[in-house]
Amino acid sequence: MSTAARLPLPRARHGCGRSEEEPAQTGTNCLVDTYGRVHDDLRISVTDRCNFRCVYCLDEEAEFLPRGELLTYDEIVRIASVARRMGVRTVRLTGGEPLQRRGIVELVERLAALGFSDLAMTTNGVGFARLAGALGRAGLRRVNISCDSLRPERFACIRRRGQMGPVLEAMDAAEAAGLEPVKVNVVLMAGVNDDEIEDFAAFARTTKRIVRFIEFMPLDAQSLWDRSRVLLADDMVALLSREICPLEDIPDPDPRAPATEYRFSDGIGRVGFIASVSHPFCLNCNRLRLTSDGMLRYCLFAIEEADVKTLLRNGASDAEIEKVIRGNVHEKWLGHEINSAKFVPPPRPMYSIGG
Ligand code: SF4
Repeated sequence: MSTAARLPLPRARHGCGRSEEEPAQTGTNCLVDTYGRVHDDLRISVTDRCNFRCVYCLDEEAEFLPRGELLTYDEIVRIASVARRMGVRTVRLTGGEPLQRRGIVELVERLAALGFSDLAMTTNGVGFARLAGALGRAGLRRVNISCDSLRPERFACIRRRGQMGPVLEAMDAAEAAGLEPVKVNVVLMAGVNDDEIEDFAAFARTTKRIVRFIEFMPLDAQSLWDRSRVLLADDMVALLSREICPLEDIPDPDPRAPATEYRFSDGIGRVGFIASVSHPFCLNCNRLRLTSDGMLRYCLFAIEEADVKTLLRNGASDAEIEKVIRGNVHEKWLGHEINSAKFVPPPRPMYSIGG
């Protein structure tokens, strides 16, 4: 996988990544960090709660935030509208598990009304089939559904709760609601599900869903992460090209997208790789995160964070919120340091940050 493609782009067409079509924002009010990266994607974690206990994320005895600590929908919409005026164009809803939060359709509707050019969700799929139509009508555009095994018994083993059936039904329902192509997120761990890479590729080829293989990251609540458990994207590309069919680049990829996607050279099926460990993509990062308890994080692995919730609950103005958002982006480091001796795991595990 060439790193050249991951080098920072020259300044975007309009200096802040907006496309020709996107109407000019007032002034050049966009979020640029000290490395020239434009931040126009906001990941919003709506809850830290989850109905699964995936081994690479939570521990069995996970403790969740008291509900009063979570941002209300009014607060989420307020922060999102400020971010929208600052050039944020796309939003992804995450968790924990976003469907664990009641009234999620209403939140999607209210966020869609703010005019984001894309509104997506990452979910474990349980309960999605029932809501797919309503979420689509409310303005949801895309969905990533997590599924780490195609074998029911292993699925239950990795997730430690729940069954695989509702997750596959969620994929069907997403397609029926027009949320296509469905992207399937697979966290691969050596010795756990690394013998299913070809099965997932076959799944992508038969279903036209885009399977994205995610390198295991040091974000789990039980500190199980170890480099020896990471399946490297290059090895997976080589395996699939050898065993199934050569993989070829997708033309004109979005260099800021976390996943590098490929298509099989026979034209059947697409797969992607989120190679945070072996091929970090921080140089083109455009993401900002809002946790469910109102903390801004300029990076998934950030150590420090900015408290917006207290500000909001103390009656802050939009200008004060804007200042905190801009300050957080200004503080942003070049990237995670997983591959350096300086690496310090973030004080929060994945489920309380959001994907
Ligand atoms: S690790 Fe941090 S800086 Fe790197 S791509 Fe992810 S969020 Fe961006």
